[in-house]
Amino acid sequence: MHPVAYGEVRIPERLWHWLEALLLSERTLETKCFMLCEALELPGRVVFLVRELVPLSEEDYEVRSPSLVVTRPEFVHRLLERCYRENLSLLEAHSHPWAGHARFSETDHRSDREKFRATESLSPPFRHGTLVFGNDMSFEGHMWDWVSQQVVPIVRIAIVGVPYRLQYATPYAYRGYDAAVQRVYDRQVRALGAEGQAILAELTVALVGAGGLGSQIGQALAHLGFGQILWIDPDRLELTNLNRVVGATYAQAKRGVRKVKALAQRLNRLCPPDEPRRVVPIPEDVRTPELAPLLLGSDLIIGAVDSATVRQYLNLLAVCGLIPYLDAGVGLRAEYGRIHMGGGQVQVVVPSETACLTCVGNLVQASVEEQLTPEQRERSIRAGYIQGERIPNPQVVFLNGVVANLLVWEAVKLCTGCQQVHPYVYYDLIEQTTFPVDAPRDPNCYLCGDSPDSLLGTGIKGVQGFIEKRTARPIPTPRQSASKKEVANAE
Ligand SMILES: [Zn+2]
Repeated sequence: MHPVAYGEVRIPERLWHWLEALLLSERTLETKCFMLCEALELPGRVVFLVRELVPLSEEDYEVRSPSLVVTRPEFVHRLLERCYRENLSLLEAHSHPWAGHARFSETDHRSDREKFRATESLSPPFRHGTLVFGNDMSFEGHMWDWVSQQVVPIVRIAIVGVPYRLQYATPYAYRGYDAAVQRVYDRQVRALGAEGQAILAELTVALVGAGGLGSQIGQALAHLGFGQILWIDPDRLELTNLNRVVGATYAQAKRGVRKVKALAQRLNRLCPPDEPRRVVPIPEDVRTPELAPLLLGSDLIIGAVDSATVRQYLNLLAVCGLIPYLDAGVGLRAEYGRIHMGGGQVQVVVPSETACLTCVGNLVQASVEEQLTPEQRERSIRAGYIQGERIPNPQVVFLNGVVANLLVWEAVKLCTGCQQVHPYVYYDLIEQTTFPVDAPRDPNCYLCGDSPDSLLGTGIKGVQGFIEKRTARPIPTPRQSASKKEVANAE
């Protein structure tokens, strides 16, 4: 266990609206609400993933006045028991209905210290924090760190919705950025506004994939000025990549340099020399368990990969970590120098708001293909349903460029709110058309659905639990189902 410097909160937008309605329902008396959370323990910080709101009724208050609110001990006991039983952490939120810029009062500081001391002995890893909200939902927050034995601040709340919003605690509110940076982004600020630009600079993006699509996405993210880009891909450059991996050189491909290292090195030259490197190359398989905290700690995950299983994994991380996930894919069919089918799609997954990949089921086809027997594969290839493995898929830079930038545009809209987000966009290369596709979220989805058993906001425990379950009980492949059927027929 390491000391924690600060805390953060991620809350689905619908819970945020409910919290707002509860706290602002009473304009003269202080109002309280509890939040049951999964605490994501990351290096140096804790992210509270809000799973459930627990409002108080009038009889749950012991004292309630314009400037004081005390909860009945029995109510708190019941909650703590539940936290203990279900391994959840607790955030308390109360309102200061008279305050524009919310700050803790002296009484708040005193009583919170006492509370934190009292709950510390209960059972680590129990995390306990409090938040105070003003009448405009501005807030200040703090939590107890049992390692340093100190109260540490909760600095921001990410409201996971469309658009995705970050709200900073009163003492950490945005103070603008310096003139040099202003100069670099001058033309862009004219499009996105200074606030929009500042939001991009605050965000850490995990970009998975550095191929034809990923290289163009990474390049655009770096030019846009995203705060940090964690770029994950284990592959080395090859000569056959040079037709589409933007930024790679012949010499690097000859030497077989790791893709992310080559691309990051070039894009980091966009920053002033004294600034910290913004593009961080991570030449590893994204499913390496050690990378999970890094991905769960980012604000946005972007997938530009061609494997259905990796896509599924990124979708799982996003749902468990309450992180928006943007996914892109392209496909091209050509024969004898004639392209007869081509296009791509971009999906924006905002957990609990828009459809996840499982809801849409666009993984179905791909995972079926991956599970085919060699004979089934051969038949499908002959019939033209899928591309043969021995014949590399056709790949062209212009198709990747369109789809990569469609994704980047959705990412910018999602983060800045400068335009309406389209959760699913399809591009047809032959018809030269781009159109949003209706992809409704499935409220019964076992990953992101509304049931309390869904994996929404379950953090690293959810990810691990899901993988363990999967490995213990593998889903029957078409071959197994077919052979069972054959056996049944034979009988
Ligand atoms: Zn879903």
